Parts: sequence; structure tokens; C-alpha cells
Amino acid sequence: MKKAIIKGITIKYEDSESNKLDYITKIIINNYAFVFEKLQFDRLEIDLSDFDQFFYDEIKRIYEQEEMKKILEHLSLPLLYIEYLLKKDGCDNNSFIEPTTVDAEIVHNLIAYKFYEANGNFDEFVQYLKDRKNEDKIIKWVRSETRFEIYNYILKFNIDLLKDNDSLFLDNINLIISNILQEISTYDMNKQSGQLPLLSLNNLDTLFCEFLSYINAPELWHELYADLKKNKNIIFEEQKGEENISSCYIDEDGTIKMKIDTTGTIYDLCNLAHEFAHYIILSKQEVDLRKLSIIEFPSIFFEQIMEEFLEKKGYSQSDIDSIKSKREQNNLEIYILLVPIISDINCFINNGKITKEDRMHFWKNKFSSFPRLQKEMKDLKDKNVLYGAIENYVLMDCDVLNFNFIRNGKLVVEGYEYLLGTILVKKLLEQRLNGVDVVSNMIDITNNFNNYNLQKVIETFNMEELFNSDNKGVVKQKSKATNTNSYNNK
Ligand SMILES: [Zn+2]
Repeated sequence: MKKAIIKGITIKYEDSESNKLDYITKIIINNYAFVFEKLQFDRLEIDLSDFDQFFYDEIKRIYEQEEMKKILEHLSLPLLYIEYLLKKDGCDNNSFIEPTTVDAEIVHNLIAYKFYEANGNFDEFVQYLKDRKNEDKIIKWVRSETRFEIYNYILKFNIDLLKDNDSLFLDNINLIISNILQEISTYDMNKQSGQLPLLSLNNLDTLFCEFLSYINAPELWHELYADLKKNKNIIFEEQKGEENISSCYIDEDGTIKMKIDTTGTIYDLCNLAHEFAHYIILSKQEVDLRKLSIIEFPSIFFEQIMEEFLEKKGYSQSDIDSIKSKREQNNLEIYILLVPIISDINCFINNGKITKEDRMHFWKNKFSSFPRLQKEMKDLKDKNVLYGAIENYVLMDCDVLNFNFIRNGKLVVEGYEYLLGTILVKKLLEQRLNGVDVVSNMIDITNNFNNYNLQKVIETFNMEELFNSDNKGVVKQKSKATNTNSYNNK
């Protein structure tokens, strides 16, 4: 008889059985943490012909232990699936939740056990541990079983985060939804933005320096811009798709850089103004989560002051309109994704956990309100076809939100800072038209960003009425005046 040692386990076999060694090796490797790790110190020797029975008995023994029963009771399916996703491929992009120290293989094993408990029997479970043939089916099952439980967990997580960091936003969520819906309803989807005037990098540089003087920027801003150029920390990259992916980021060695998604037109200047405000903020302080709600506010402001500057430089009204409509288009895409989320948050706060029916109800009511989706609706005459499509969408959307949060730490409310920034800037520019010097305050906010939060911004600009929900809020008054009464929340 021959002996083979596989990960510390001795397997005795006859020459004629050597072709089965691969099979055994795979089983030991796939179930090492769960079954074999503890056994390797026992100088265990197993006859190859007894291996299957040994494996079966060992799994049975483990699952019959009291300790195991407690673990199974304690680790609910949603928790197991979250663990599974957190550990998959050694992912570590979620800064909000920490995975436990339980081995990924054990998590997988427990999920499979629960699957066969609900959809099969113990023998099939042991067979699965050996051949792993049903893996896709099991993962699909656990995803569908835990979908809404996890989604509700994520909603609550986001709500708690907002409560701690931005309760003003949370308290006014109704007003905010009606504001977004109004924006969406008044947006002309067919508006084409024309070809914008071309702009060389040299001219862009000249105009940007002029812009800094136009806003009376502090000397430091001029210096920081000069440094950025000197150190080649502004990266101009030709825009590939429709989506604008300009960003301001901290690279691996801690240098703050800007990437400008370049179209070669005057639009690049607006991107530059936007990212430059992020740059100033980041170069002065570390920004924490409490600032999430106003993080886009200075950028959106200076971007729009850039539009004003370009108009003063003699660019035509239609060029400026094109820039505005490009920006609105970008915003609209964010809003369309945000509306159902904010509605879910609202629903969660008032009625508790969200169900599939809640989400479907929302879409059934609102689908027809979105101009972009109206066209698609026309092709779906049959109600059942439409509802089937809505159901598929609702489930898929939920999976994407869950996955993005667990795998990448992406908050479901991400994007609301653009909405909030846009609302604030709109009010500020109205004040500017009335002769109020808002620019110097905005420079101060950008320079001393960590001294501000949403509440302080509102106070600085006397915008208390913006979030005054005693039926006299600006948002509500406006929706009456323009007579768009079709968007009520409830
Ligand atoms: Zn931004």
C-alpha cells in the first residue's frame, strides 16, 4: 500500500486507486478549514476506499454538535450572505462594515447547508461539498432569499448615517422629493446641446487665470493653480463616453490630483472650476463623512459662476445654454436614480421595512411620470408585461444596490450631495442677482470647509426658508406657482 500526504492528511491507497487521488485532493482543499484543519494534527491516516464514508461521518458529526447548532441559529441567512460578499475574492473596499474572522470557506459551507436544508437533504449537501456542482444555483437562491432583508439593513444604515451627520436633509426629505420630481418633470429631454466653441489648452489656462481674478480669488488659489500646472497634477484626458468622469483625487503617494474629462471646448473650463474647488477643500483639510451633504456645494457654485464668467467674456447665450443643459443632463441622471431611494427611505421611516410590493407600487405610480421612460412605456402595452418588467427591474436594482454597498461601500444615498448642492446654488444665484455678494462667502466656505455644515451654510446665507416645511417652504410655494401639481408624495 502507498501513502500520500495531502495538506497534512495521510491517504493510504493501492496502486490501482491512484487515479482517484486528484478527486480526494480537491475535496480536502475545498473543505480544509471546515473539516480537515483540525484533523491534520491527529496524524490521521485514511484508507482511500473509506474516504467517502469518513467525510460523510465527519460532516454529520460537526453539524450535530451543539456549538454548531448555536452558530446556525445565530448566523441568519442575510448575515451569512453579507459575509460571503465581503469575503469574496478577498474584497476589502467597504469602509463601513468589517467582515468577521470566520473563514470564507466556512461561510460558504454554512450557506450551502441552509440551502439543502430548505431545498434538499443532508446527503445532497455532502455531495455538494465534494463536487461543488450547484454553486451558481445556491448563490442565486441566497441572494433572492435575503434581498429585501439586506436592502432594509442598508436603508437603515444610510438613515442612521444621515441622522448623525445630516438630519436637516433627513427631516426635509418630502420637500426634497417634490423638488427633484419638479426638476425632472420640467426638463426637456429632447433639448439638444449644440456644438460648443473649441478651446485650446493654452487658452483654457489663460481664461482660468482670468476667472480666478474675476471671482477675486485669494492669492493662495493662484499659487495652488500654478503649482498644479508646474507639477503636472492636472491630467487632461479626452472624454470617451457620454458620462463626465472628471475627478479630484488623492493618489497613492498622497498627492492631490485632478483629472479633467476633456472635450476640447469651453465646457472643460466648467469642469476645471468644479474640480478646482474640490482641490482647494482637499488641500486644506481632510474631509470627513459629516461633510458629505455639502461636499459638492462649492464645486457646483464655482462651476456656475464660470458659466456667468464665460457669458461676460462674450460667449453667446446659446453656448451658455448648451453648457447648462449638459450639466442638467448629468444631474438628471443622478436624480432619476435617487428618487426611488429617497422614496424608500421616506417609506422606511414612516412605515418600517420595505417590501417588494412597496418598491413595485412606487414604480407603477411613477413610471409614467418620467419623460425618459414614457417612450419605453408605449412599447409595453400589455399591463402584465409592464408589471413583469417592473418586477424584474425592482429586483435587479435592489441586487445592484446591495452589491455596491457590501462590495464597494457605496451608500445608496450617494449622489444626494449633487442634488443638495444644486438646490443651494440655485438659491444663491438668485441672491447674487439681487446684488448680494455671495462669492466672497463661498470662497470662505471653500477655504474653511471643515468649519461648515449644512446648518451653518443655511444660516450664512439666510436660507432658512429653504427648509421651512410649515407649508410655506420655497419649494412648495414654487410648485404651486408653476402649477405642477401632479407630483405629490403620498
Ligand atoms: Zn464634484
